[in-house]
Amino acid sequence: MYIGLDVGGTNLRAGLVDEAGRLLAVRKIPLGEFQGVEPFAKTLASLAAQAARDGGISPGNLAYVGVGIPGATTKEEILYTCNIPMKNVPLARLLQSYLDVPVLLENDANCAAVGEYFCGVGQGTKNFALVTLGTGIGGGFILNEKLYSAGGMAGEVGHMVVEKGGAPCTCGRRGCWETYASATGLIRMTREAMERDKSSRLWEESDGGTAVTGRTVFAAALRGDKTAKALCETYVSYLAAGVVNLLNIFQPEVLAIGGGIGEAEEELLFAPLREIANRESYATRCGGKVSVVRAKLGGDAGMIGAALLERVI
Ligand SMILES: [Zn+2]
Repeated sequence: MYIGLDVGGTNLRAGLVDEAGRLLAVRKIPLGEFQGVEPFAKTLASLAAQAARDGGISPGNLAYVGVGIPGATTKEEILYTCNIPMKNVPLARLLQSYLDVPVLLENDANCAAVGEYFCGVGQGTKNFALVTLGTGIGGGFILNEKLYSAGGMAGEVGHMVVEKGGAPCTCGRRGCWETYASATGLIRMTREAMERDKSSRLWEESDGGTAVTGRTVFAAALRGDKTAKALCETYVSYLAAGVVNLLNIFQPEVLAIGGGIGEAEEELLFAPLREIANRESYATRCGGKVSVVRAKLGGDAGMIGAALLERVI
């Protein structure tokens, strides 16, 4: 049995996972205010121990604990995190002072890819990619049945430029994929479309513009709004630009799309995305096939993947 720990933007979660990748028990607490590295490690350790005991396992009998971190890591150390102020933290050693079992660290998007690879839509493949569309865009790649990690730094697909000189990105470049195809990018483009069309249903779907979310454009498009439908097409064209780049570079047997936007309607997101991928990807031009599918495990992917990490490193 393994524990997968997921350090998210709002919650810390621990899941007890068996050999088959089944989630047997889950514990979660709010991330709360960061009190320092030691209390953080203590909280994670006690969460892991609670999840183990919930599933009837003594924490000392766990094979190991895997931890998904929103940032760059080695197997033992956090190099830096995006949302929590941690730099060069020996988290594996700190956790082991509370839990006497091996600890493995990895980037959270990479963990999510591992979860989908073993227990979701990546099952049975040798080469698999997961793209998550949230606040930013995350990516994870299983190549020849191993996680391509590069110290948790690999798979930063959100920062490939799809529009040279385009919208400014938090990374300092312009026109990064995530400035268009993340939920944040879609919300910005939705607001811009609303300013151009004051009669659009987008206003009604967002309480007069006060509650624009990544869902707003899809909701208005479903009700037939022309501006929303046009924006959906624009959005999918940006999404497809990056997806086809990734298909061409890695030729995964399956590329899965997850995250909040990955829950959008088949006819508004996946059908037009597949159409472009089939038309533009190098593989289909050469008589091959591409498979772009919706991810399956939702928010559990990272926790399950963290628990199964040892199999792909
Ligand atoms: Zn960027």
